[in-house]
Formats: sequence, structure tokens, C-alpha cells
Amino acid sequence: MILKGKKGLILGVANDHSIAWGIAQSLHHAGAELAFTYQGAAFEKRVRPLAESISGHIVGDCDVTNSESLDTVFERTANIFDSEIDFLVHSVAYSDKSELKGKYLDTTRSNFLNTMDISCYSLVDTARRSVAMMKNGGSIITLSYLGAERVVPNYNVMGVAKAALEASVRYLANDLGRDNIRVNAISAGPMRTLAGSAIGSARAMYNFNAAYSPLGRNMTLEDIGGAGLFLLSDLSSGITGETLYVDAGFHNMGVPDLTLEMNKD
Ligand code: NAD
Repeated sequence: MILKGKKGLILGVANDHSIAWGIAQSLHHAGAELAFTYQGAAFEKRVRPLAESISGHIVGDCDVTNSESLDTVFERTANIFDSEIDFLVHSVAYSDKSELKGKYLDTTRSNFLNTMDISCYSLVDTARRSVAMMKNGGSIITLSYLGAERVVPNYNVMGVAKAALEASVRYLANDLGRDNIRVNAISAGPMRTLAGSAIGSARAMYNFNAAYSPLGRNMTLEDIGGAGLFLLSDLSSGITGETLYVDAGFHNMGVPDLTLEMNKD
């Protein structure tokens, strides 16, 4: 129960496959009290029962590109938690699926800006709103992927947004460190989620990671949830501005061991 008495806000649960849901379950088991947003009525139907199953609060519909919706959910969070939170989980990203295949060269201005807005700026915006309630220090995490620093075919503009996201983590960590607020990213291996399936060749990446990562498997929600718990608890009290890889060690490989069999599902 290392998070007993701790309270926090979780953005990015769409369904029970969401990475944010894996993290939420770990935080709940560690004793934390959680508030959730959802994006639109269609997701509310999924998120509400999940939140209720772990005695979580729903603070409403949140589109991170809409300041008024952010105002509302942060106001409700402040009301529920007496204007004090200990952590924020930012697990939000979006890009037009039609540009998550083919060439990065063909990225349109409108999708570039929208992808950066939703997948990167939203961390800055929600961090600023959260730290106003982190009166006794706090911890913020976001989700990234290896495509931030290496070329992953089809990941395209999302890789550029994740690079900006990881840089934002470092800048925010410096801004907030003296207030004992830590900011870190988890770089997760490929997961079968809604967002994950939007990437062209998602299945191939998933199978490739399982075949050629040192652990020889893909990540589970428990794997990511455990790392989230670590970064949001005092166990990681000396760590900030970091990107922690939770990808079965895949990022360490220079060349895959092609003598291994790839299981195509
Ligand atoms: P998911 O589809 O379950 O979650 C993505 C979430 O982003 C959804 O809850 C969706 O509602 C939210 N979202 C999108 N646009 C939004 C907007 N305008 N306003 C508010 N919320 C919005 O998929 P996921 O894989 O759990 O993704 C969570 C995070 O993990 C993302 O940042 C993603 O890039 C990252 N990630 C995913 C993988 C993977 O393979 N699935 C790997 C590494 C990192």
C-alpha cells in the first residue's frame, strides 16, 4: 500500500486494454484514490464501469485540445480532492491514421499541428494545471515509444511528437524539481490498444518485438502498471526527467538475432 492516502488524476483510459488502465489498476492496488476523464460519450460507457470497479471518480469528458473541457475536469478534480493531488498520469496521443503509414515526408501541416497539440502540448497544459494542486510535491508520468529516437517505419509524425514529448519531460522536470515535483516518461513496447492499432504494420511490430527482444515477449498491462507505480511512488524519489524503457529490453538491440523464429499471428 505504498500509495495509501495519495490521490491523482488519470487521462487516457479508453477501455480495459488501455495502458492508462493498466497503470490505474496498479495504483489502486497500492492504495491510491483515482479520478478519471474520458473522451466523449462513446468512451464514457467503457470508462465509467472500469472506474467504478476500483472505486474511482469520474471527473468528466475531456478533449485536451479544448481548454474549457480541461477547465471543467480540473475544477471537478479540485473539488473531489480538496484542491490537492499527488500525481498525474498523462496517457494521451492521437494522429490521423492515414498518416501513420507511408512516408513521413507526406505529413500535412494540419495533422502535424494536431498530433503535436494532442500528443505533446497536452502534457504541458495538464502538468501546469496539476502542479497548482501538488502542494506537497508530486509525480507526473507520460507515455512514449522508441519511435521518438529511432526511425520506426509508419510511426512518422507520432515519432516526432514523442521526441518533443520526451524533451518536454526534461524541461518540465527542471521547471518543477525545486517544488519536489518529478516528471518522467515510460517508453513502452508495442501494446495491442486502440491507439496502437492505428499504426500501419502494428501487428508486425508487435510480433517483431516479441521475437527479438531480450525477454522474448511483449509487455503486459501489469508490466507497464508496475513501472507506473514505481515512478509515481517515493520508490523513485531521486528520478526525474527520465525516459524509462518498459519494452522487454528491445531498445538495447542493435541488430536482431535473426536466427530466432518470428511467430506470425
Ligand atoms: P488507447 O487508445 O487506449 O489510449 C489513448 C487515449 O488517448 C484514449 O483514451 C483517447 O481517448 C485519448 N485521446 C486521444 N485524443 C484525445 C484528445 N483530443 N483529448 C483527450 N484524450 C484523447 O491507447 P494506448 O496505447 O493505451 O495509448 C496511451 C499512450 O501510450 C499514448 O500516448 C500512446 O502513444 C502511448 N504508447 C502506446 C504504445 C502502444 O503500442 N499501444 C506504445 C508506447 C506508447
